[in-house]
Amino acid sequence: MADVVTMEKIVSLCKRRGFVFPSSEIYGGVGSTYDYGHYGVLLKTNVKNEWWRAMLQERDDVVALDSAIIQHPKVWEASGHLAGFTDPLVDCRTCKLRFRADHIGESACGRRPSLHPGEHEECDLTEARDFNLMFETTVGPVKEEGATVYLRPETAQGIFVNFKNVLQFSRKKPPFGIAQIGKSFRNEITPGNFVFRTREFEQMEMEFFVPPAEAPRWFEHWLAERERWYVELGIRPDHLRLRAHEADELSHYSSGTSDVEYLFPIGWSELEGIANRGDFDLSAHAAHAREKLEYVDTASGERYVPYVIEPAAGADRATLAFLVDAYDEEEVEGETRTLLRLHPRLAPVKVAVLPLVKKDGQPEVAQEVYADLRRRMQAEYDEGGSIGKRYRRQDEIGTPWSVTVDHQTLEDRTVTVRDRDSLAQDRVAIDALGDELERRLRAPWSSPKLSRDA
Ligand code: ATP
Repeated sequence: MADVVTMEKIVSLCKRRGFVFPSSEIYGGVGSTYDYGHYGVLLKTNVKNEWWRAMLQERDDVVALDSAIIQHPKVWEASGHLAGFTDPLVDCRTCKLRFRADHIGESACGRRPSLHPGEHEECDLTEARDFNLMFETTVGPVKEEGATVYLRPETAQGIFVNFKNVLQFSRKKPPFGIAQIGKSFRNEITPGNFVFRTREFEQMEMEFFVPPAEAPRWFEHWLAERERWYVELGIRPDHLRLRAHEADELSHYSSGTSDVEYLFPIGWSELEGIANRGDFDLSAHAAHAREKLEYVDTASGERYVPYVIEPAAGADRATLAFLVDAYDEEEVEGETRTLLRLHPRLAPVKVAVLPLVKKDGQPEVAQEVYADLRRRMQAEYDEGGSIGKRYRRQDEIGTPWSVTVDHQTLEDRTVTVRDRDSLAQDRVAIDALGDELERRLRAPWSSPKLSRDA
């Protein structure tokens, strides 16, 4: 069966249900900038927490870091960003639009009929020139030379410049990693496709330092590990692939990169890059800062500059992929039901507690059930409107279970648990409810779309 999801449907659901809003909307919005609403915050937080869980909680060899957005300008000189973090930019003198020279084939000309830039007879494109993607700003009250700083375009460099600090306190030796989640900023020439490409976004990056000879093995390890992470969280495996970069695509620092790609409605696109960065970064910072950034084995006296394997993911892009993969529509009793089949661990709300009617003592019992459940998981209480309407609302925000309190509850202290995916309704004793939902939350889950796609 064909996937019903489109980017327009995702954007519209996100706005309607309070996941993501266009930023500064009352002033007409600023292009490609978004604000996350209540459910969007909960969802993205769950994505980031799952990343921390995989990086920290389930491993002994990775530690956390949260470095500053504004760093010493020399960081970007050493990293190569000042000289080389550029995209080739082409202007059209006729329509005044700007395009990435390497994205002409996917861009639309400003004239009608819509063609690619350069194909319309009125097009007048400039030569491509390099455009640095870093946002510049000044620190201090006086705008003078020397006070220019940059908003970080990636979180990775904050990790490399802290290598020595972390090594000293953490009592780790290679192989070990440093993980960080935080905002990055890139003055993208052509942002777009909702939160897929924006100028301000969150990254989840981990730098894994290894003895040089072990780099190829760890590269393979992280490829497999990162692919597994998406699949375990419910992404359909046939919508996920690893793609190795061709030699001419490789970044200046990389001796090997593979992207984890997802089949978005816009086609296969990068979700995450996994690179073998060699000793490029530590050596560059060592040279610029005149510091030794190496590992010394106190027992054997052996010293070396570790190689780095980097899985670099985007929190917003991953969130978008989870939304796209989860979006579904289904005919139920002659009506179309829209729902997000999110992995329960990612779902913004795990359980909704709904009294069937707003009388006969049902709200009081439902409040009691809610008070108990909310101590264990993100829960929501809703007594407004018909039960059908309330179910539909929970379906659209991806709530895996809805607990309904009805007249029978008052007789035997049982409730119904409605399953978002199968629509099965089970009767469960209130006393066993919390444990039962926690059991379901821990259970492996895979998308019901999978068996239907097959
Ligand atoms: P692209 O080729 O899409 O520009 P990239 O290869 O430059 O991405 P990296 O520098 O490898 O991206 O960054 C790692 C991850 O950060 C990307 O895989 C993506 O998930 C996320 N990311 C990068 N740029 C953006 C952006 N402008 N908006 C949202 N997420 C981004």
